[in-house]
Amino acid sequence: MNEATQHPNTPNSPSTASMEPGSYGYCSWHHAYSAGVRVINVVEQASGPGRVDFACLPCREQHHLVPFADRP
Ligand SMILES: [Zn+2]
Repeated sequence: MNEATQHPNTPNSPSTASMEPGSYGYCSWHHAYSAGVRVINVVEQASGPGRVDFACLPCREQHHLVPFADRP
């Protein structure tokens, strides 16, 4: 299987150069996969892999969430 088949859930697409609108991922707020999710919280744990919370745009507006990368 050497076909260059594009998977719909391939994380990185080079066409989105600057101001990336977000990526496809799991929204921790409405508990479903959605497009345009952004990282909201990065929880580092001493033991274990830690946790990253993503939220989609509607949930960010509804809950007034600020993306992790947009904070001062
Ligand atoms: Zn959501």
